[in-house]
Amino acid sequence: MDYWPTLYVFVLATFIGMGIIRRVSRLLHTPLMSLTNAISAIAVVGSILLTGGDYPTRIRVMGDAANQFGYLVASALFIFALHWMNAPTTARKGVYAGVAATALAVIVTWAEPSVIHHQWIILAIIAGFVVGVPLSRVPLTAVPQRTALSHAFGGAAAGLVGTAEFYLRLSEGAEALTRFQMVALIAEVLLGYLTFTGSLMAAGKLQELKWVPQRPVTYPLQNVINFLLFGVAIVLAIAITVRPDAPWAPVAFGGVIVLALLFGILLIIPIGGADMPTVIAILNSYAGLSAVAMGFVLDNKLLITAGALDGSSGLILAIIMCKAMNRSFTNVLFGAFGQVQQTQAGGEEQVYKSETSEGAAQVLEQANLVVIIPGYGMAVSQAQHKVRELYDQLKKRGITVKFAIHPVAGRMPGHMNVLLAEADIPYTDLVEMDEINPDMPQADVALVVGANDVVNPAARTDKTSPIYGMPIIDADKARTVFAIKRSKRPGFAGIDNQLYFGDRTWMLFGDAKSVIGELVKQLASGSGMH
Ligand code: NAP
Repeated sequence: MDYWPTLYVFVLATFIGMGIIRRVSRLLHTPLMSLTNAISAIAVVGSILLTGGDYPTRIRVMGDAANQFGYLVASALFIFALHWMNAPTTARKGVYAGVAATALAVIVTWAEPSVIHHQWIILAIIAGFVVGVPLSRVPLTAVPQRTALSHAFGGAAAGLVGTAEFYLRLSEGAEALTRFQMVALIAEVLLGYLTFTGSLMAAGKLQELKWVPQRPVTYPLQNVINFLLFGVAIVLAIAITVRPDAPWAPVAFGGVIVLALLFGILLIIPIGGADMPTVIAILNSYAGLSAVAMGFVLDNKLLITAGALDGSSGLILAIIMCKAMNRSFTNVLFGAFGQVQQTQAGGEEQVYKSETSEGAAQVLEQANLVVIIPGYGMAVSQAQHKVRELYDQLKKRGITVKFAIHPVAGRMPGHMNVLLAEADIPYTDLVEMDEINPDMPQADVALVVGANDVVNPAARTDKTSPIYGMPIIDADKARTVFAIKRSKRPGFAGIDNQLYFGDRTWMLFGDAKSVIGELVKQLASGSGMH
């Protein structure tokens, strides 16, 4: 097999992916994550070929021109799908293009003459629907763990296809696999199984399952042990690549699989729940790369293109998230963040000032500029529709209302945008952190709705804080701050927030949805309407 054209496709598709993903609007990072998640399901193409293929009498070669044309159209549609995610006005079209591309890829592959065992494919599709449909119905707050679960399935599919491919080809004689394909196969299996167990662990941490430790678990020489294990896997991989016909090769291949499964778990154990969204983006990248490797093995350019787009997307999203949290990539992967975060025992007990919804409504009515800062708490209480009512009430009074969007507010990139869009709040009133911060001193009211870390001034001033250096929304610079949360508990990073004790801050304790409901009631009843 001439592998240069496939390598060419891989490199070009990666560059296209990087170029397009970088331009995707921040507002759309969550839909982008879901879209690339769906694209990584392209592994199904390999599964269809392998399960339904007339194997081993005919090695799968996608020679048919109609077939290749279908793949070409699907590849172009994938690129358009991602390109259209760069603006909210075209995003829907992007999702439809992605769905059309995957459907086309599946149909074209299934129509391959060598695919004859249809019963298995139909069974697998039914099984996919049985699992997939309920999975798609989870609430928005559970989307990160749902995404992780989907990655686990994608990884398992790639790993299983690679495993089957290896043993099937071995039964045909070792020469059925070129050295290049062998290297790709090992990469596919390593990345596939590692993504499988790693994603399961990530989903467990995010779902806060009892038997998956949330806190980073560390032990002496952890990174050394991980690297050693990885080293053993690589040595085995090289041995199999050099001597695939050796009697010990099938067993050694099994060893690589076990090590990859183990490695997925060990890689995630030392990472705290806080870093899971970033880890998911990285796992997305791995799932994409294992699809690329599958494409090399099966000589399938569609798998390579879609996998490369997926791989670059995951990588870029992870980098964006790291930047927004002021963390380095290696720090996320090996840093055991969130391990020792005792809240400092400050001298005297600080006190919160509370305000009633009546009092807060009166202040809001007098404002010219109100900046609403949503955070994870808005997602938890599903307060976005009430927030919309508040927005309407304030707009009715001629007050300028803006939403300050922090890139990592909530639990996934673009989380707040999705919620606010669901409530039909015009995206022109959503302002990104860097743009709103210069206006914060002019804001009469900063209304913090279940946000905590993303408005914590310690990030600017306290060098000892674990979030020091993370860019924040300058809520503390507004003339008045109202902060809605249920209790005195800290946010995600587990640290206190001086904003709540500030001179100009008043707490509105309670569930975001009911507190904002109260504010809306006060405003609607016309209390103090001038
Ligand atoms: P946060 O720091 O987790 O704070 C959320 C606050 O909402 C909590 O203090 C909580 O206080 C409150 N809350 C929870 N349920 C509520 C309810 N029903 N009603 C009212 N308030 C409620 O959230 P954030 O400010 O959005 O910051 C996001 C954090 O996630 C950052 O640390 C960020 O680094 C991290 N993160 C985000 C991403 C991402 O992609 N978005 C990725 C990785 C990490 P009570 O419990 O007292 O109510």
